[in-house]
Amino acid sequence: MVQSGSERIIVLSGPSGSGKTTLVRELVTFAEVILVKSVSATTRPPRPMEVHGDDYWFLTDAEFQGKMHNGAFLEHAEVFSSGYLYGTLRSELDRAWEQNGWAFLEIDVQGALKVMQQYPNAVTIFLKTPSSAEFERRLRARGTESESIIQRRLATAERELQLADRYKYVIVNDQLETAVSEICVILKAEEMARNA
Ligand code: 5GP
Repeated sequence: MVQSGSERIIVLSGPSGSGKTTLVRELVTFAEVILVKSVSATTRPPRPMEVHGDDYWFLTDAEFQGKMHNGAFLEHAEVFSSGYLYGTLRSELDRAWEQNGWAFLEIDVQGALKVMQQYPNAVTIFLKTPSSAEFERRLRARGTESESIIQRRLATAERELQLADRYKYVIVNDQLETAVSEICVILKAEEMARNA
């Protein structure tokens, strides 16, 4: 049973190509607080090497809609105008809190704004790339997306950047290690504030 006052939520957003995936992995390993990565549900098909229940809960449209109707989602959004739905299951928050940890949500700006409305005390972090040219370079270096998807992601990133000031913290991911240690400091301070 989750105790009241244990609603520890971290939301991390930033354009794909801002280095989020590596950063999240480092944080989960090195942060001095317990971080439990929320596994989102999505209707996007899995990429090679992605594992159901680990990277995402890969659902059919019907399964996703069913969960929407049952109120299973804290938030959900169509990301990048891709036609694919992504959403955070409430059960993922409970899973984190039952471990006395922070639910760590790596979600887009639309989803983050919905979480902020429901949990104004959530620790929200926007991850920026040093420049838009560097962002485009990183996005292309992954080599996993088609040109039209890259163009959509660039446009989305531009829009998302406009909303960065709605987040409690904005971190520039120039040097990975620096960004990781900055976020570790933030998380430690937030944990101490909640335990005070
Ligand atoms: P990808 O398809 O590259 O795995 O993820 C695309 C984007 O979807 C990521 O930038 C991530 O922020 C966003 N995303 C992943 N899970 C969720 C979710 O549960 N809710 C929302 N709103 N966005 C998500």
